[in-house]
Amino acid sequence: MTYQAPVDDIMHALKTAAGLDGLIAGGVLEGVDEDTIRAVIAEAGKFGAEVLEPLDTIGDRTGSRLVDGKVVTPPGWKEAYARYVAGGWNGLGAPEAWGGQHLPQVVATAAAEIWDSANLAFGLCPLLTHGAIDALEAQGSEALKRTYLPKMVSGEWTGTMNLTEPHAGSDLGALRTRAERQPDGTYRIFGTKIFITYGDHEMTDNIIHLVLARLPDAPPGTRGISLFLVPKVLVDPDGSLGARNDVTCAGLEHKLGIHASPTCVMKYGEKDGAVGYLVGEENRGLNVMFIMMNAARLAVGVQGVALAERATQRAMAYARERRQGRTAATRAGEMAPIVEHADIRRSLMTMKALTQAARAICLVTARETDIARRAKDPAERAAAANRVALLTPVAKAFSTDIGCEVATIGVQVHGGMGFIEETGAAQIYRDARILPIYEGTNGIQALDLVTRKLPLEGGKVAAAYIAELMRTMEEVRASNRPEFGRMGERLGEAVAALAEASRWLGSALQQSPEAAMAGATPYLRLFGLAAGGVYLARGALAAARDDAAGAAAQPIAVARFFAENLATAAGGLKDAVVGGADSALMLAPEALSA
Ligand SMILES: Cc1cc2nc3c(=O)[nH]c(=O)nc-3n(C[C@H](O)[C@H](O)[C@H](O)COP(=O)(O)OP(=O)(O)OC[C@H]3O[C@@H](n4cnc5c(N)ncnc54)[C@H](O)[C@@H]3O)c2cc1C
Repeated sequence: MTYQAPVDDIMHALKTAAGLDGLIAGGVLEGVDEDTIRAVIAEAGKFGAEVLEPLDTIGDRTGSRLVDGKVVTPPGWKEAYARYVAGGWNGLGAPEAWGGQHLPQVVATAAAEIWDSANLAFGLCPLLTHGAIDALEAQGSEALKRTYLPKMVSGEWTGTMNLTEPHAGSDLGALRTRAERQPDGTYRIFGTKIFITYGDHEMTDNIIHLVLARLPDAPPGTRGISLFLVPKVLVDPDGSLGARNDVTCAGLEHKLGIHASPTCVMKYGEKDGAVGYLVGEENRGLNVMFIMMNAARLAVGVQGVALAERATQRAMAYARERRQGRTAATRAGEMAPIVEHADIRRSLMTMKALTQAARAICLVTARETDIARRAKDPAERAAAANRVALLTPVAKAFSTDIGCEVATIGVQVHGGMGFIEETGAAQIYRDARILPIYEGTNGIQALDLVTRKLPLEGGKVAAAYIAELMRTMEEVRASNRPEFGRMGERLGEAVAALAEASRWLGSALQQSPEAAMAGATPYLRLFGLAAGGVYLARGALAAARDDAAGAAAQPIAVARFFAENLATAAGGLKDAVVGGADSALMLAPEALSA
């Protein structure tokens, strides 16, 4: 089943959850109007469906390979990448000063969803380049920006992110890669990085690695980490490519999914040391890397939405074709398409509702990013930056968790054929499994939400956000529409549960931090359900205002289903947060180690 970009659904989420009209009217989008946004998304949809999607299965089956020390991507990959660059897609959201189109983040985010749905393993390459662009733009010296940004923005060169080492994954303070100062102001880098996505490939002439390393006199832990730009090929003063740098790909991982995305073991400084250039200040590299990681975390959340969308499209198509059993409406001697069975309908509604809720959360996070970057009023920019900080772990973890859940429901809807590779449902399931792991595991995202984001501004950032969710609930209740069923009541309960769990965590963090941390994962889920449910309700309110939509309009059905069937888990999650820590921590670590 070929992929079709959900342009209408994306526009609906942009308009209702992300408040596109207000952004345009307020001048935040700097003259970009709705028609332009729709046209870009539709065009991205065509490129995704026509160029990227046909390579998705080939990429999965062939994978990237290491041949004579060089990574070779699957057939068609290099050509598709060249078309992606020629189409100007890489610089969609990048600054004009470096050759980008400076389109709003909401547009770049919507386009990224499309690349990732069409071909997740392909989309990962630009995802990392974009993160590297953000970090360089924010903290690179003028000379580094001039040399590297134009080619990274155009896509002529790609970027990578080098954090992980064998003994330093979630705990980056443990990393050992060494950097030595040189008399000419450059540095030499020595060490091994693992799991580096697109660490090598033949699609571009150069690859720009952003590498975390430690100077000899650096303080221990995370305060002693610096960030270096290490090009695969050194760039001469006139901008032309010079000698090969001392960096190689020593191996490729064999993985459960995303086979076409090369996951590389990178060796720096096997000879004289890889030449590196400092980005930002010495020992403050983690702060710069966080710029890249925050952008990448939202982008990984979008990958979750993308695979959920793809799984849903496949499952809906299969459910229309596959015939089994009968319903009351089935004619004698025939079998019913499985889409007519109540249990399959529930499965498909679950897939749709989770996907749309996660999309809304990601697009709202992108919207706040636009305000944080572009609003004229500094206070408005600061408030939006706090909102981005609060929502980023939710966008990453909730969306990637539901990406896996929706993918597994997708396999189930296919029955036995879901387990067989031909239908493609299995690939989505395999590809999705990495999403809750990389870019900071979802457990780490939950801890970030509880220990760093909830306490922002003494808890005021979260409190203001929850109050805003509550106001939408009041609108839903006040609308009094029979087709909304118990949507207002159920979502009101979910938001109240979020408020109660937030309050409890606020004091638990002071009195018993371990109990607070034990509740972090259920809390993040509760946050995602409440926020996602409210955003869908905003879509339902808008549909209800549109007389032509009628009671059976999809946004109303999806929002009501979410509220009455999925958001109902909120109360249980709240109980797990406020009352579940003791039993979660009842068995000592030794008892769990046998
Ligand atoms: C396909 C793939 C691509 C990747 N791409 C890149 C890349 O491009 N660049 C890069 O630098 N890295 C990359 N990674 C690495 C990835 O980001 C890490 O695997 C991830 O951050 C987790 O680190 P880890 O594997 O060491 O797991 P660990 O840190 O060992 O974690 C194991 C488990 O313990 C939990 N845990 C760890 N610490 C804590 C804590 N303090 N409190 C509570 N729970 C904790 C984790 O949540 C996890 O469930 C990639 C990995 C893969 C598999």
